[in-house]
Amino acid sequence: MTAAAQHIVNISGGKDSTACYLLAQARGRPFRAVMADTGNEHPVTIDYAMSLGDRTGGPQVELFRADFSERMAKKRAYIAEHWPRDGVPQAAVDRAIAALQPTGIPFLDLCLWKGRFPSRRAQFCTEFLKSDVIGQQVIDPARRAGPVIQWLGVRRDESIARRQAPLWQVVSTPGLSSMRYYRPLIHWTAEDVFFYARRHGVDPNPLYLQGMGRVGCLPCINASKVEIRAIATRFPEAIERIAEWEAICAETSKRGVGTFFAADVTPEGARLGKRIARIADPAERAAASAAAPWPDARQVAEWARTDHGGRQYSWIIDHEDDGLSCSSQYGLCE
Ligand code: SF4
Repeated sequence: MTAAAQHIVNISGGKDSTACYLLAQARGRPFRAVMADTGNEHPVTIDYAMSLGDRTGGPQVELFRADFSERMAKKRAYIAEHWPRDGVPQAAVDRAIAALQPTGIPFLDLCLWKGRFPSRRAQFCTEFLKSDVIGQQVIDPARRAGPVIQWLGVRRDESIARRQAPLWQVVSTPGLSSMRYYRPLIHWTAEDVFFYARRHGVDPNPLYLQGMGRVGCLPCINASKVEIRAIATRFPEAIERIAEWEAICAETSKRGVGTFFAADVTPEGARLGKRIARIADPAERAAASAAAPWPDARQVAEWARTDHGGRQYSWIIDHEDDGLSCSSQYGLCE
């Protein structure tokens, strides 16, 4: 007899995964609800997700986290052996090894291990903090027991990258049972998901009512100017936390630099980037980049409070989209 498929719903604490959870419950089949905790969500988002079961009578959301301690130990050994050979001053080597200690905060530990923050071009945070965590700790063990259907709260109208996302997608892996991604909200709009939750008596994550467009990481590396402005205004402690992470991360970076937001997000940063890119000699370019005053999280937050052009302060929160929304096909970053 073929084993019945195990239904697993991915939760992010946002509106779409909440609607997915409610839909799975309405379909009446047993399911698990799982969430990857990156350590960079607002506590409200974690609390919201963890209370879904109690508020709806559905399954409790299971929380999973990445652990980088082994990889950080290997990196410490690598730095001790290789950096002095590469001409890195011993003081910088000692500083990096001292800073490269697990904090238990997955996002920070990932950046310490990598020696840098993720970026739009190198968005390794989604993979290491979300897909790998759920894949290795939940999906693969489940697939050893039988077939899996993974529910994803993805909507086509969210972004260009998701416009072609299929309703069903079959994944085959040697040695594991089959898995299908299921995107039941594919044709829904944002209004539809809010309406559906309301119909089931479930309020949205309170962060939506406080001006947040997305409620995954707070902030996300891809946050738009408007989102950074809203975060800096309502949750200045989140910007302070990122500034602290930047200072720790800079210690473990070979260049001694670590900025959370893209260095060219501000006009000054973009101009600086262009000037440095024009330096022909690679060693001189690297030295100029290491010495450059790249905008840190506090400066980016200050810039976000200005109007277009970055000179005048704006007191109106508008709703422009700088086109920086996350492009994951799997909806893991909301
Ligand atoms: S929400 Fe943003 S910062 Fe967080 S894992 Fe996704 S892309 Fe990275």
